[in-house]
Amino acid sequence: MIVNFVVLTLFPLMFPAFAGHGIVRRAVEQGLVDIEALNIRDFAEGRHSTTDDRPYGGGNGMVLKPEPLAKAIRAAKEVHTDAKVVFLGPRGRLFDQEKAARLAGEKDIIMVCGRYEGIDERIAATLIDEEISIGDYILSGGETAAMVVMDAIIRLIPGALGNESSAEQESFSNQLLEHSHFTRPPVFEGMETPEILLSGDHGKIDQWRTRASLLYTLANRPDLLEGREFSKEEITILENWGRQIADIIRTQGLHGPDALSRNR
Ligand code: SAH
Repeated sequence: MIVNFVVLTLFPLMFPAFAGHGIVRRAVEQGLVDIEALNIRDFAEGRHSTTDDRPYGGGNGMVLKPEPLAKAIRAAKEVHTDAKVVFLGPRGRLFDQEKAARLAGEKDIIMVCGRYEGIDERIAATLIDEEISIGDYILSGGETAAMVVMDAIIRLIPGALGNESSAEQESFSNQLLEHSHFTRPPVFEGMETPEILLSGDHGKIDQWRTRASLLYTLANRPDLLEGREFSKEEITILENWGRQIADIIRTQGLHGPDALSRNR
């Protein structure tokens, strides 16, 4: 299986560096992915190959002209007839791991990168299948967003990661953040590696990792746990923590707010 990305952008030279490093590069070399960046300007008419124009109704900034973009999308679709056309834009649905997994099943994806104030709405309404936002902030262009989306998709293509299982264990894959990692040396600047991880006891190590995953998720992203189905083991861990927290609250009541710091 190969996923073909055609990126439509005013800055195609941003992409060779992205395609030329690490896991993405290996996936390209293995023939799992193809990344082609086309310059929207090459589809523009006139001596100046103008790609932007002032917004109707006035206001700040410029808008990507519809004609060159329509031509570029149609040219890409001529080669990749069944391609899904994605526009990267802040008004789209938020990108997440689930969306990445769904897009990893597509054969051809055309990525449209906006610049200036964005694209003409008539392009969005007719030639774009889906708008994707990578977060609640404004970028100066869709290129970095396209790289984020492609990177997340490429990791999920079977064979792209050397070790098949590692995509399944990563953060978000089962509504949990991943456990922490340690490598040599065992003691770094006075900080020790948790002993269990050095024990070679894989049952204990798995338990430790489950607890670390749960703790991180609970502390940093409790929203991920909503509606999640917990395993028996996970429920036991949560119940134990619940009891410990209840104890802390009880001692707080008896000894005042200093109890917590005194106990540590
Ligand atoms: N005026 C627009 C923002 C334009 S930013 C607005 O307020 O909605 C210029 C381009 O950057 C956009 O067309 C889009 O392609 C890209 N971009 C900006 N923020 C993005 C985000 N959060 N996710 C994906 N693409 C984004």
